[in-house]
Amino acid sequence: MAQVSVDKDLCIGCSLCTQICPSVFVMGNDDKAEVVPGADASQPCAKEAEESCPSSAIKVEA
Ligand code: SF4
Repeated sequence: MAQVSVDKDLCIGCSLCTQICPSVFVMGNDDKAEVVPGADASQPCAKEAEESCPSSAIKVEA
């Protein structure tokens, strides 16, 4: 199963990933993105969010 993570030290809180892939990413109380617990990271939008993140904070591994 694919693994996805957000490096909160890199995240700038732009919320783009939550717009591209709301089933996998959500904004946390700290205004940084988090992975939705139990999210299916193999969804194509997760990879799309990884490629679109301006700070390269998202890592998706097959
Ligand atoms: S797209 Fe990247 S920088 Fe923007 S909220 Fe998501 S993880 Fe953070």
